[in-house]
Amino acid sequence: MSLRTVLFDAGNTLISLDYPRLAAAVGGATGVSLTADGLAATAGDAALALERGDGTDRERASRYLELLFELAGVPRSRMELVRETLLQLHQERHLFGAMDPGTPAALTRLRQAGLRLAVVSNSDGRAEEALAAVGILEQFEFVIDSQLVGIEKPDPRIFRIALERMGLEPAEGLYVGDIYEVDVIGARRAGLDVILMDPLGHHAGRDVRTARNVAQAAELVLLQERQVST
Ligand SMILES: [Mg+2]
Repeated sequence: MSLRTVLFDAGNTLISLDYPRLAAAVGGATGVSLTADGLAATAGDAALALERGDGTDRERASRYLELLFELAGVPRSRMELVRETLLQLHQERHLFGAMDPGTPAALTRLRQAGLRLAVVSNSDGRAEEALAAVGILEQFEFVIDSQLVGIEKPDPRIFRIALERMGLEPAEGLYVGDIYEVDVIGARRAGLDVILMDPLGHHAGRDVRTARNVAQAAELVLLQERQVST
């Protein structure tokens, strides 16, 4: 059975944190000197620390944000200020307001190759808004937001909702996401093939194909399709 759809995670796959905005606002509120590059450099370690933690993915998401700032040098005693500032920023505009510049063209290539695209995201009801803000919402047939369907990854049912909406079988789908325990485990439980986003090469030894960014993931998918069709 050949591939018909590529499903994407949103946060840290299609879209990423707007580090300059976060560094400026949280730095200002806490009095700690933060730079966008300094924050971005802690992202890999924060994600790894998170994989070892438990709780719902929602709880892990807030913990992840706090860890970024803790690893960038904000003392724990100022974490309440960090939380308040992030909440205010997120109310004004989605925190995940940045995107790799190669992403829109990669999505277009996948669609031009006849693949159907959708998003399956653990989010707070605002995944669509975030994708619209960076200008890629129209690339997708729909967005499944955990907050709106009441199921979150790694529960395989959230992926099945997307497949059923498309009328496709698991073997016709592939998922691209960035957290092994949530995205790889969940998508495999639903019977999907997976590509793990691994911009820093943290997962090189793991039992899953990895890509540095969406453009490279698309490249892997299109290469695989060419091999299947020849
Ligand atoms: Mg993610």
